[in-house]
Amino acid sequence: MPPPFATDHLSDEAICVATLLSALKWDNDRRLRIALQAERFVQHIRDHKGGLGEIETFLEHYPLGSPEGLALMTLAEALLRIPDAATADALIAEKLAAGTWKTGGTSGVMKLAGIGVNLARKTLGSFPDSAERSLIRPLIHKGAEEAIRRIGRQFVVGENIADALSAAKKLEHQGYRMSYDMLGEGARTAADANRYFERYAAAADIIGKAESLRQKSGVSVKLSALHPRYSWTQKDRCVPDIIDRLSQLCRMAAESNISLTVDAEEADRLEISWEIISAVARLPDLRGWNGFGLAIQAYDKRCFRLIDAIDDLAVEAGRKIQVRLVKGADWDTEIKRAQVAGLPDYPVFTRKANTDLSYLASARKLLALRERIYPMFGTHNAHTVAAVLDMAADTGGIGGFEFQRLYGMGGALYDMVMAGHQVPASVPVSIYAPIGSHEDLLPYLIRRMLENGANTSFVYHVLSAGHDAALKDPAKD
Ligand code: FAD
Repeated sequence: MPPPFATDHLSDEAICVATLLSALKWDNDRRLRIALQAERFVQHIRDHKGGLGEIETFLEHYPLGSPEGLALMTLAEALLRIPDAATADALIAEKLAAGTWKTGGTSGVMKLAGIGVNLARKTLGSFPDSAERSLIRPLIHKGAEEAIRRIGRQFVVGENIADALSAAKKLEHQGYRMSYDMLGEGARTAADANRYFERYAAAADIIGKAESLRQKSGVSVKLSALHPRYSWTQKDRCVPDIIDRLSQLCRMAAESNISLTVDAEEADRLEISWEIISAVARLPDLRGWNGFGLAIQAYDKRCFRLIDAIDDLAVEAGRKIQVRLVKGADWDTEIKRAQVAGLPDYPVFTRKANTDLSYLASARKLLALRERIYPMFGTHNAHTVAAVLDMAADTGGIGGFEFQRLYGMGGALYDMVMAGHQVPASVPVSIYAPIGSHEDLLPYLIRRMLENGANTSFVYHVLSAGHDAALKDPAKD
């Protein structure tokens, strides 16, 4: 039988919004308090530009809407995958002809990108002859590839778990907790799935043994990495296999006393992932370990009611469950998939303000359930952070939850939150830290660039001159 939240899958957006608004308990005093707090955050972020990640600085100079931003994204998407030199040449020449590239800037990536692309563009222009070009070709390719890798590395903590643990020491000293993610975009073959499983298992083992400065770190797991046929049509085959693999990983995590959170993926996988997660949460031998959890996406219309199901599961399984609330990373893809499939409606909200509203209503619900749920709020939006802090104050106080940010992003905002600076009390913050080599990081890099460069995103607005849009109240919009 489908879970109760399934009925919201393609429901009418206006009806969903009415339900969320009535659950939010939003009044003018709250609105003003949050606006003021968010404004303080934004001011601090702007005053501490050094606290912006390299990628945020980069997007500030080359927004994705600009010819340079678009050119770099296309290059990042394609360059490292092009097998032959002539096509790579043509792509570099075409893309770099666009726009004006700056050579200055204080950020390492900015300097590198500016110098690299100017050099490549000039050189390609001065050597139209193919024989001469082939002499300098390796140099140009190396420069362009290195620039893309450097940008990608801003989001990746290390190529392997040992590098990652060592790079994370500085952040742990600052007070951050870590949650490691093995980069990879889903297993295509059984061999891929075995390889990912081994990588997760090794990570759980090494993290468990590592001496952590504060609290033990955790791992984040993608179910699509554990099986090559993780889809609704292959349910009978993949669900038992993934339950088996996930429970093995959970046992390792429980033994090492680290946490394990299942990432949220495509909307059409939510119901099977729920079947898997709830089966694992009920396993009697995992009782007493409260580190198991899942990520949920506010842009999905089912999110608000999914939290009820999680709470019921926590009661039934006699355990606390960790819930990472995010807005959702693949909005464009969800819209496109629904269109291609000819669905009668979308599984996700179609207005940014509605996703924000869903996030806030879901955050409020999670905060009220802290006895059985450990909420983890993953966002880089200062208005959302201010709203969560404000709602926490009247649903049990500050405590029993944390914020999460992605490695390479949100540093200025969360340094402040963690230090208790300009906020009612310090709140723990975890960093979601991807690990992987350059082959694995490209799709992740593109996702982050698209997300941050979108003209609806908080990062986009906070970097542009008029930041009022960044501080929009979704309950008013
Ligand atoms: P904001 O700029 O406030 O929000 C941007 C988001 O709004 C978009 O990503 C999209 O969700 C939504 N949006 C944009 N335009 C529209 C529109 N027209 N209509 C409706 N909604 C719109 N994502 C996952 O999918 N799965 C995960 O497991 C996951 N894990 C994460 C873990 C951490 C620690 C963090 C910080 C993020 C994680 N994310 C994950 C990514 C997360 O979904 C994005 O970071 C987030 O969407 C950006 O939200 P924001 O509040 O920082 O920014």
